Amino acid sequence: MFKVKRRYRDYVLCYCNNHNDNTPSLSISLRPEFYGCYRCFGCGLTGRLSSNEMKELGCEVEKNKRPVLNIDWTSLYKDYNKKLIRECPQKITQLATLFNLDNAPTVLYDGIGWDGCSWTFPVFDSNGMCIGIQRRFEDGNKGFVSGSKIGILIDRQVVYSNQDTVFITEGISDLLSVADLDFLVAGRINCNTGVEELSNWLYNSMISRVVIIPDNDKVGIDGAEILQTRIILDSQSSIIPTIFSIKDSGCSDIRQYIHKFGKEYVRLELEDHV
Ligand SMILES: [Zn+2]
Repeated sequence: MFKVKRRYRDYVLCYCNNHNDNTPSLSISLRPEFYGCYRCFGCGLTGRLSSNEMKELGCEVEKNKRPVLNIDWTSLYKDYNKKLIRECPQKITQLATLFNLDNAPTVLYDGIGWDGCSWTFPVFDSNGMCIGIQRRFEDGNKGFVSGSKIGILIDRQVVYSNQDTVFITEGISDLLSVADLDFLVAGRINCNTGVEELSNWLYNSMISRVVIIPDNDKVGIDGAEILQTRIILDSQSSIIPTIFSIKDSGCSDIRQYIHKFGKEYVRLELEDHV
């Protein structure tokens, strides 16, 4: 039986026992239609586990799953976006000040809204379908609109751009900070989510170069390496993402790093890195 490294929302990452695997590189699907199907990205081993075997791994089908809410996420985030632009434009300025942005955040991430007590950011699946909305309150607290799935942060700008390099950040504030330097940016909610979604999304895009910018901590760097490996495997090495490390800077994330070294310096540094 495979040794489980980590369970994600719709797949389980395991060590393959068909080869000497310390990555780990075997993924078992938890999606209803592919439940138990596995594939090793290292040696190519595929197959399907029985429900008993899945139970042994601790991956039995969850009972009493919460009912799926039928929410039209696209129209909801567009409503919040209109509310922000038409009714509460001062909230755009406030957000720009909060993150020290030269550009309006609505320009940097398409679909930002205001729901009356928090800024809202649509999150997407790998096909660009909105599947949830993240909220950020004025006191810095964050949460999701109930029923949201943990999607990825992508932008129409990125989808339709003909630029070939994208930076991947952790979280919306880092995303806005890097986008403010005039780079294409996509993001994930934190360093553990969105691996499969980002990889699938990249696979179907025109993007050929990826730079991952993790937070400066162990989970961030580990998370970046997992994403890096996954993108290499899924793209069959047509994309080799690099990791932009701020390890020795004393800063905890790229937003702080930009604050410390200045926008022009970091812009040049990122350009050089690419
Ligand atoms: Zn294998």
